[in-house]
Amino acid sequence: MAEVNRWVVLKFGGTSVSRRNRWDTIGRLASKRMAEDGARVLVVVSALSGVTNELQAIANGDAIDARIAALVERHRAFCAELDLDPDSVLGERLAALQALAGDARAPERTLDWQAEVLAQGELLSSTLGAAYLRRQGHDFGWCDARQWLDAVSLPNASAWAQRLSVNCRLDGDRGFAERFAVQQAPMLLTQGFIARHGDGGTAILGRGGSDTSAAYFGALLKAQRVEIWTDVPGMFSANPREVPDARLLTRLHYAEAQEIATTGAKVLHPRSIAPCRDAGVAMAILDTERPELPGTRIDASAATVPGVKAISRRNGIVLVSMESIGMWQQVGFLADVFERFKRHGLSIDLIGSSETNVTVSLDPSENLVNSNVLEALSADLAEVCRVKVIAPCAAITLVGRGMRSLLHRLSDIWATFGRERVHLISQSSNDLNLTFVIDEADADGLLPHLHAELIRSRAMPVRDDTVFGPSWREIAHGKPQRAPAWWRGRPEQLLALAQQGTPRYVYDLDTVRERARSLSAANAVDRCFYAIKANPHPAILRTIVEEGFGLECVSLGEIEHVFATLPQIDPGRVLFTPSFAPRREYEEAFARGVTVTLDNIEALQRWPEVFRGRTIWLRIDLGHGEGHHEKVRTGGVAAKFGLPMTRFDAFVEHARKLGMRISGLHAHLGSGIEDPQHWRGVYAHLAGLADNVGTIESIDIGGGLPIPYTPESPEFDLGLWRAGLEEIKAAYPRYGLVIEPGRYLVAESGALLLTVTQTVEKDGVLRIGCDGGMNALMRPAMYEAYHGIFNLSRLDDAVTATFDVVGPICESSDVIGRGRTLPLATAEGDVMLVADAGAYGMAMANTYNLRALPAEEIIE
Ligand SMILES: *Cc1c(COP(=O)(O)O)cnc(C)c1O
Repeated sequence: MAEVNRWVVLKFGGTSVSRRNRWDTIGRLASKRMAEDGARVLVVVSALSGVTNELQAIANGDAIDARIAALVERHRAFCAELDLDPDSVLGERLAALQALAGDARAPERTLDWQAEVLAQGELLSSTLGAAYLRRQGHDFGWCDARQWLDAVSLPNASAWAQRLSVNCRLDGDRGFAERFAVQQAPMLLTQGFIARHGDGGTAILGRGGSDTSAAYFGALLKAQRVEIWTDVPGMFSANPREVPDARLLTRLHYAEAQEIATTGAKVLHPRSIAPCRDAGVAMAILDTERPELPGTRIDASAATVPGVKAISRRNGIVLVSMESIGMWQQVGFLADVFERFKRHGLSIDLIGSSETNVTVSLDPSENLVNSNVLEALSADLAEVCRVKVIAPCAAITLVGRGMRSLLHRLSDIWATFGRERVHLISQSSNDLNLTFVIDEADADGLLPHLHAELIRSRAMPVRDDTVFGPSWREIAHGKPQRAPAWWRGRPEQLLALAQQGTPRYVYDLDTVRERARSLSAANAVDRCFYAIKANPHPAILRTIVEEGFGLECVSLGEIEHVFATLPQIDPGRVLFTPSFAPRREYEEAFARGVTVTLDNIEALQRWPEVFRGRTIWLRIDLGHGEGHHEKVRTGGVAAKFGLPMTRFDAFVEHARKLGMRISGLHAHLGSGIEDPQHWRGVYAHLAGLADNVGTIESIDIGGGLPIPYTPESPEFDLGLWRAGLEEIKAAYPRYGLVIEPGRYLVAESGALLLTVTQTVEKDGVLRIGCDGGMNALMRPAMYEAYHGIFNLSRLDDAVTATFDVVGPICESSDVIGRGRTLPLATAEGDVMLVADAGAYGMAMANTYNLRALPAEEIIE
């Protein structure tokens, strides 16, 4: 057995065999497998690209002679490109192709004749490939797949399927590997797509045929591995054309791969997985152009964390909704209904049912598109129920093992779908897939958003690098060149500061300046205000005001702090945007001459004297919230902020009665919003409203710009953000565009220094204890926020151990980071650095457990 165990099967598709340099690659890869794995190599090839379509047209009887002449010409020309003599290499094969036109079976286009026609593409490509590879010095033999793969006839298959869409025998052939191994050459080349019919003639495997041929050979040979070489790097967590941040899936279980292939991914034909799975043969999908990438490995031992591995979308789904008109608990209703689908040759994919309604989905098929089968079906069904056909729909599927244990992580996904009309939800009993069916139009643009939500909610565990490889964006354009954080360049200085005591926040003003300039440089933006609640440190306020920003305050305390820090500041550069502030704070704010933003009508009704004759801005709730966590979404019915749209007219009317002027409209819908197009949408919405008020000068689209906290989060695309604003500003040029970011300006400027107090192991979990936790930095406990954590005392050590990093507070949520890889030697006295802590860090610190507040330090 040892001898025959050593095969590796490599499959190359049409684009991989149509150029000379690609054949060089095939020769190189095959020889490498032989040398490195000590393997015998079987290469399975498709026809040159486009050839099978031409042969199909010939098989259909369409312009046979002209098409054959063109194919002969194409293959002769390719021989010339390969420096091969067309007559000696392909003479016989081309003659056989030409003879098929004059064959006695041609006029009737019998199925066996069609099969022979279709088989010519692979016979030609494999013949010239073998000749070329031998010429290059590779020890290749050629074999006819029809001598080895036997078509089996399935009981209910049509005559067409028994000839042109066959399956092959996999069992009862114990001697296969031994017989196959007798062939002399160490490397063999054969054809995909074709097999031997029971009558000795040719049979065709049909769609996905070459992948399936490779899988059959792999299974029959009990190969080490079947490698599918294509022009993409492997299977991705979503279609990379639609979701550039989709991640390469480097390791999958057969069942997951099967599900992903079935629900949309085109890289591997779903038929090809079962033969390998049943024979226990590992599969790999690899990229001919980028052989250095890991590709996707598929086997049974991929015991990976539960989680969503991929999302897919299938269009053209038809839903049939059937309302029973019979009696309650009518016996046999489903049987009556399904019998009618069978009668029309329709197979059902998803089913949702209740006492009185059954809704099913039909996959897109030739049958549906080309005939009026739906009308006929509806007429038939109308005899037993009320029918409604809903189309076109899209099926959005989440695939991954252990979906049930993940439902609690999917709350953001439910929320996303909550805005669409979901017709059907189906969870498969194999716990591998969860499918939502919505209108096709609603699915546009949804996948990038869903993919980001899955990562953010950790339902898609992208940090597991045994499963998730690089993103498509990274593969296509290289790793994002993120500038190293400011603190990387000065560990000595920070370690010295830590000696003066920790916890200690350190802020780098150059970073603040740089971020401020990147925003104020946007042409479309007329005025910038800094939301000081993110970090009110006096040096930071002065720096940002020097950059031309105004300041946005949410309490009288903040206003007083601003005027104490910057006594000369023009009150016109200060905004007051409070939430449920007491009456006195409004009075004080007006007295100081700052711009007041109001967000409810009750204030006007209860305190008319405070507002009479005043000029104000109005904060609106546009009906939905956005942001990195439920707790930071500041729009929508669940949020306490903003005047709802339904009361807009009443507010404007009431303000007029009080002789007030509304000079600005404001909306701030959340924090850490990743979609750069969000703000242009807000501006468009508010500008539409402003046109109806007549007195509006400024439109304030809020803050909420994100920063990349996690290693895998993409950098915010400021270019897209700017371009979107410019476009919308050009459409509504008469309003001043105002922004009020907080986090974006200061988050990356700050680091929190902590000192390790001890390391402890408990039930297999290693913990690093620090002298500050949720008292010093609330964000992880409050928002499940991620902050990078580094051992500043051992920055150059390899990070080889996994720790939870915790604080000294008596709460289970006092965890700064879970499962972080850090130096194994981390010990008492080391200085830890928590990155990107400049926003909502010190500002939210507290003295819980009577622990002292952190110190603060400015670095110029
Ligand atoms: C907090 C806040 C901001 C700033 O939010 P960031 O997410 O830090 O940019 C802006 N406007 C208002 C009204 C706020 O309350």
